[in-house]
Amino acid sequence: MEKKRNGSRRKEKFLHNLLAAVLWLCVLLPLILCIILFVKVGSLEKELKQVKEINAQAAPGSFEEELKTMALKAEKEEAAEEPGQNDAEGSEQKTETVKKEETKEETKPEENKVSVPSPASVYTDGKKHVYLTFDDGPSDHTLDILELLEDNGMTATFFCIGKTDEHSKEMYRRIVEGGHTLAMHSYSHDYGALYASAKSFKEDFYKIQSYFEEVTGVKPMYYRFPGGSSNTVSKVSMKKCIKFLTKQGVAYYDWNALNGDAEGKVYAVKDMLKRTMDGIKAYQCPVVLMHDTNAKERTLEMLPKLIKKLKKMDAVVEGIDENTPLVQHIKVTDVVK
Ligand SMILES: [Zn+2]
Repeated sequence: MEKKRNGSRRKEKFLHNLLAAVLWLCVLLPLILCIILFVKVGSLEKELKQVKEINAQAAPGSFEEELKTMALKAEKEEAAEEPGQNDAEGSEQKTETVKKEETKEETKPEENKVSVPSPASVYTDGKKHVYLTFDDGPSDHTLDILELLEDNGMTATFFCIGKTDEHSKEMYRRIVEGGHTLAMHSYSHDYGALYASAKSFKEDFYKIQSYFEEVTGVKPMYYRFPGGSSNTVSKVSMKKCIKFLTKQGVAYYDWNALNGDAEGKVYAVKDMLKRTMDGIKAYQCPVVLMHDTNAKERTLEMLPKLIKKLKKMDAVVEGIDENTPLVQHIKVTDVVK
């Protein structure tokens, strides 16, 4: 009798435990799934934010919004014009055979080639190669930036604009003498004037290239489009600008990492540093966009901290040269076949 009762009690206890385990599973499993989804959504939101910020970088400000509509209209007009064009501008759109013959006649082949560097040649040392770039200079901070880099055995690229005061001229020379890369970022940096037509773009290019050569004795061969190659504010087709630069043997660089110093929002130094490092970690060959203007004090403040981190990573920090893999929002190989 007693045995039987014990047996049914055990059975009862077993069923009770089983029920409890099933109930726990019913509660725990959805909870775990919820946590996983929560984390996933968080990381996706972060990615979305970064993409939005990169897009905003290409077209900040209301002035550019206004130009967007104009650019769209201009592009449509240009597309309509292109097939039948017969003037000098239109020669770029002629058939392949004619184009080839023209190239032979017009120019020395060496000058017209853009050497597309092979990333493999950079990474045989197994190290990360970081390209710090400073746009819009020179400024009152340029010398500090140069000294900071040089004290740490690093070089960088300065995408400068045309300034004629003595300090700026001294800075162009100082950049070259320090072994950095003096690169072009247009003479005027005036979106409306620069991108008004193919003619205005070309004139501005010749002006900045010859000016830098005159001041420093070195012909600059690297370019960064104001607003990047994917900007939507240009009234002249960016493909046309890209073809032109390629004909000059000039390589253009956009960026794949940035510190956010040109955005409407002012970031705290530690947030700028984090954004920069996120970009640097994400790419094999990070090209970091920063700005060298009097207003960008935070970039100068961030720089020693960034340098410290890069040293810890044992990264090679150097100026853009012929071995630097192209980082382009609109790839030259998609435009110039
Ligand atoms: Zn700029």
